[in-house]
Amino acid sequence: MPADIETDLLVCGGGMAGVVAATAAARAGARVLLVERWGFLGGSATAGAVGQFVGWATEAGRQVIHGMAEEVVERLDRHGGSGGHTVFTMSTGHRMDQVSYDPEVLKLVLDEMVAEAGVRPLLHATILSVEAAPRRIAAVTVLTKAGPVTIRPRLVIDSSGDLDVLARAGAEFLPLAPDEAPQPATMMFRFGPIDFATFEALTTPELQALARRGVESGALARAALHQSRIPGTDDGWFNISRVALDATDPFALSAGEMEGRRQAFSAARFLHDHVPGCGNGRLVALAAQLGIRESRRIAGDYVLTADDLRAERRFPDAIAVGAYPMDIHPAKGAGLGFETLGGDRSYEIPYRSLLPAGLDNALVAGRGISASHGAHASTRVMPTTMAVGQAAGTAAALVCAGNGGTRQLDTSLLRQRLIENRAYLPA
Ligand SMILES: Cc1cc2nc3c(=O)[nH]c(=O)nc-3n(C[C@H](O)[C@H](O)[C@H](O)COP(=O)(O)OP(=O)(O)OC[C@H]3O[C@@H](n4cnc5c(N)ncnc54)[C@H](O)[C@@H]3O)c2cc1C
Repeated sequence: MPADIETDLLVCGGGMAGVVAATAAARAGARVLLVERWGFLGGSATAGAVGQFVGWATEAGRQVIHGMAEEVVERLDRHGGSGGHTVFTMSTGHRMDQVSYDPEVLKLVLDEMVAEAGVRPLLHATILSVEAAPRRIAAVTVLTKAGPVTIRPRLVIDSSGDLDVLARAGAEFLPLAPDEAPQPATMMFRFGPIDFATFEALTTPELQALARRGVESGALARAALHQSRIPGTDDGWFNISRVALDATDPFALSAGEMEGRRQAFSAARFLHDHVPGCGNGRLVALAAQLGIRESRRIAGDYVLTADDLRAERRFPDAIAVGAYPMDIHPAKGAGLGFETLGGDRSYEIPYRSLLPAGLDNALVAGRGISASHGAHASTRVMPTTMAVGQAAGTAAALVCAGNGGTRQLDTSLLRQRLIENRAYLPA
């Protein structure tokens, strides 16, 4: 194992954003190394077992995410790992466009995508340290089974969710306002078998009354019985625990994992004892890790705000479109803050929100892009992180093919390349 590796592009973090970014860049001709701490790809989608992609379309049903995100769905379908697009109405009355998937099948799909594109994966590798030169990341050292390995890339995409590379490079992050807190984490758990005919016959008021009873009795931390059915099974992944924490604090994260597991078992007992259709079920599996909704957000060249989303603000350097509501799980309490854009409304994400201030050879992809707490509550969902990932990877390949930095990139060429590769970008 060489202790020193040179590459065009280093993608740090193999979640949905990182995998799509790495694949897009490799398809466009860059030499790409993809670093991931787990032994498989997918991040929150697999290790966190989220189980459903949401946020594909406007309330009126216009699909605004296509491109490689849709390719992931097509590949899942071919392997029997997803039921394709479905639409359901939430308890809030919001129309939700959803793709449920089996996280185990998704792992295989992501392996295939990176292998076919010629991405070089380095799994079981954790970011250790960063050598920062003025305005550049000169090297990233990762800890592997064979010891530390130093990677010297021309360009880095930080898609680690928590932006660990940029934190070690001394980058600046967006602060929370005094009345804001990071969204809480959730330990997803698989429960089954469920008699879905009975469970799905429960009306919204019945589900709400059951969830309230669970919260009042102390069995549930979140007033919801939200689950996504695993395609081809009688099991569902439940998203009903809630742990407030700073996910970048190692001891808080350790305590949070344990609290998440405690809540999951408590919730599973409640389902078994009180929820129609769940009487024969048990907790079958816990996600491999606590699912982190929010941690660091980069201070970028442009900070996307909630008002930009509400105003449907257009950007000349738009690289992705989103339409998902601003979905804020509060750090305290069992409720949900849910602000929909309504009608056929959608918003744009500018390339500048991927550019960390003060660095010329780094991009962010995924939930850590430069967005306010409110805007992040929408941009964080996976179809949007995949669209941003496709843009980051395509941009990185273009930058690597030229002589300039990320700020010299011709964004109209980037947009053209994205459209050629089926991304959705209005003229
Ligand atoms: C509980 C929960 C429920 C959600 N529900 C939905 C939903 O229903 N639908 C939806 O579309 N979205 C949902 N989301 C949001 C969505 O899942 C995430 O925002 C999205 O998956 C983030 O993708 P990402 O690629 O940016 O980051 P991540 O998925 O966090 O990926 C980051 C990757 O980097 C790796 N990594 C991190 N640090 C290091 C390091 N130091 N060294 C090496 N590797 C590292 C991680 O292992 C991971 O693979 C939910 C999120 C949570 C937590």
